[in-house]
Amino acid sequence: MQPQSRRIRPRRVVTLASVTALTLAVSTSAGTGPLGTGAAPAGAGPSALSRSSEHGPCMITGGPEVQMSEGIPTSDGYVQATGTVRALTLMIDFSDAPGEGRALDRFAEFFPQTEEWFRTSSYGRLDYRPATPVRDWLRLPKPFAEYGIERGAPFDPGYRELVQDIVATADPKVDFRSYDLLNVLVTPNAGPSALDTVLSVTFAGNTEAPVADGVPLANASFVYSRQDDGSGSYDRTGYRVLPHENSHVFGLPDLYTQEGGGAVGHWDIMSEDWGADNDLLGWHKWKLGWLDADQVHCASKPGTAEYRLTPLADPGGSKLVFVPLDARSGYAVELRTRAGNDEAVCRPGVLIYKVDAGVDTGMGPVTVYDSRGDSGGCTRSPNVHAELSDATFTPGETFTDPQRGVRISVAGADLEGDHKVRVTRE
Ligand SMILES: [Zn+2]
Repeated sequence: MQPQSRRIRPRRVVTLASVTALTLAVSTSAGTGPLGTGAAPAGAGPSALSRSSEHGPCMITGGPEVQMSEGIPTSDGYVQATGTVRALTLMIDFSDAPGEGRALDRFAEFFPQTEEWFRTSSYGRLDYRPATPVRDWLRLPKPFAEYGIERGAPFDPGYRELVQDIVATADPKVDFRSYDLLNVLVTPNAGPSALDTVLSVTFAGNTEAPVADGVPLANASFVYSRQDDGSGSYDRTGYRVLPHENSHVFGLPDLYTQEGGGAVGHWDIMSEDWGADNDLLGWHKWKLGWLDADQVHCASKPGTAEYRLTPLADPGGSKLVFVPLDARSGYAVELRTRAGNDEAVCRPGVLIYKVDAGVDTGMGPVTVYDSRGDSGGCTRSPNVHAELSDATFTPGETFTDPQRGVRISVAGADLEGDHKVRVTRE
C-alpha cells in the first residue's frame, strides 16, 4: 500500500463538444486531418448502425445535459478513433523551467508505447501516428508561472494564452492542418509533482480554441510531470497517462470519481491508468468502432439466451453482450484474460458492469460488479484499487438483479478458454 500522499490523483477532462456541436458540422475540410474539428464522418463503428437494427435497444444515450457520456454513438465533435490518426506532439519548456535533457527523451517516455497500446487495444483499427516536426524544446515566451496553470484551471484565460503562444512559436515549423489532435508534453520540472497535484488535462471538441493555419486547436491533451509513484513501475506504465488523455479526444469519459477508482478499478484505462496494466472495457471498444456489429450481442428480448465470449484481448470473435435496462443504461458482459493490454489480470473471467449514459464523466458512468466483495482482491500491483481486481465471474457463478428480473450466469468454459454466458430476462 502506498500512503495516501503518494497515490496518483485523478485528473479531469474538459469537454466542450456538447455545447459546440452545432458549429462543428461545417468546419471539416476534406482530405486533411484538421486538428480538432474532429468531426469524424459517420460510417465506421457503431455510429453506422441504424437505431432500428437489432442493436437499437442497446444504443443507450444520455440527455443533452450530459457533457461527455457513455452513449452510443458518440456525439459529434470528437476525433474518430479508427483509421489513421495523426498526433502533433510538441515538447514545451519555459524560462523558469528549462527542459532538462533532450526534448526527444521526453517524447520517448510516451512513444512508441502509446501507438502500440492503441494498436493492440483497437485490434489494429487505430493507426496512431505521432509527429514531431519540432524536435527540440519549444520555448514559450512567458515563464510557466505567468500562465496560471493549476488543477481545475479552465481554458480561459490561462490555456488560451498557452495555446496561442504555442501556435505563434511553432507555426513556422508546423502546418497545423495536417493533424487530428495535439499532444503537449510539458517539461516535467514545470509545475508541481504529479504525486501532489495532477495537472494533466484534455480539452476535447473545443471549437472556441485558438485557430492555427485555419483550424481550431479543438482537441488537445496536456501532460505534466511524471506519474512516478516510486514503486518502480514508471518505466513500464508511466506512458499510459497519454492514451488516457487521448481517449478523451475520442470521446471517452473519466470512470474514476472524486473518491478515486473504486467503481471500475483497473479494468479500464479511463479509470486507472497507472499501476496494473489494463485495457479498455468492451463497451468502450464498441463505442470507439473497434468491434463489429456481429461481435456485440444485444440481449433485449425476454427469455433465456446463450452467448459465447472470446477473450476481449484477442482479435476477432464474439466480445460483448449488452443487456439494456432502459434507454440510458444496461449491463455489459465480457471475458477478460491475461493477454494483450490486459497484462495484469489476476483472475481471468467474465466481467459484468453497468453502463449508464445518463451519468456524466467523473460521476461514475460505469460500475463493475464484484463477484467477491471484501476479498481484498488478487493484485499485488501498487497504487491500484485492488478490491475489484478479482471481480470477474467464473463458471458456475451468477449475477442477479431480481428487481429488473435479470440473471447472467457463466455457464462454462471450453478448452480454448472461450466462455459461455447465459442471460435470462423475465
Ligand atoms: Zn481523464
